[in-house]
Amino acid sequence: MKRPLNTSKTFPKKSLGQNFIHDKNFILKLNSLITSNSFTHIFEIGPGLGALTEYLARKDFKKLFLIEKDDKLYKKLKVRFIDNKNILPVNCDALQYDYERYSGNYKALIVGNLPFNVSSQLLMRWIVDYEWPPFYSKMILMFQKEVAERILASHNQKIYGRISVITQARCKVKKLLYAPANIFFPKPKVDGVILEFTPMNKYVNVNISNLQKIVRQSFEQRRKKIKTSLKDYNHLLRKYKIDDDLRAENLSVDDYCKLASGI
Ligand code: SAM
Repeated sequence: MKRPLNTSKTFPKKSLGQNFIHDKNFILKLNSLITSNSFTHIFEIGPGLGALTEYLARKDFKKLFLIEKDDKLYKKLKVRFIDNKNILPVNCDALQYDYERYSGNYKALIVGNLPFNVSSQLLMRWIVDYEWPPFYSKMILMFQKEVAERILASHNQKIYGRISVITQARCKVKKLLYAPANIFFPKPKVDGVILEFTPMNKYVNVNISNLQKIVRQSFEQRRKKIKTSLKDYNHLLRKYKIDDDLRAENLSVDDYCKLASGI
């Protein structure tokens, strides 16, 4: 695939995290990991110049929604896919889009090489803002490597934090592909990683707002012992036999879910 040529001063837009994938082999590998059927509603987030869209368009799906914030790119996508009435470009901020309204009766698939600047916010929105089980059966998403590592981190690791606990309480997360910086144009300062998220029901009864509250309070003072940062919940630490001399990073996802269910 050729590098996108565009001399416009407003292209690419740094503010919209525009780093386009120009490596065809990477796109082919990624595409081969995405499966759908004729009932699937696919939401592609930030399709950009359509590098991945070109291949998604050849898959089975019921509808393919292309959620692109940049109005110039949206207009290009509209022209490019005008012949397929089941491919629907939408000029919208993916953080504001009402996915459930368009997801249909079958589980949807969310895919995208996300703009790095809002990737964590988008992930939290899809995990926290919808009833569980959610409207999607899988998400396949690109993150900058450091964020991906935090999402995947286990307790007792320094990088384990709020995003690790909230995500792992809701989804099984798997690393799919490593994306070195040189597959992008313009080349970002950081590498990327594609992660796959499969919603799970293990903690379906845990209230997500309570979990967020406990986790926020614990990690706000991550160097303190948990008996101090969770001073209002010491009775729960005793109830669930969690050692109160531990620190936030030492409690497992299971521990946090127990505490949240006790509130
Ligand atoms: N998918 C393309 C690719 O892989 O070459 C482009 C990926 S680029 C990292 C991110 C894309 O998301 C850009 O096209 C950008 O305009 C778009 N974008 C940025 N912020 C967005 C938002 N809040 N909602 C929807 N699209 C957004």
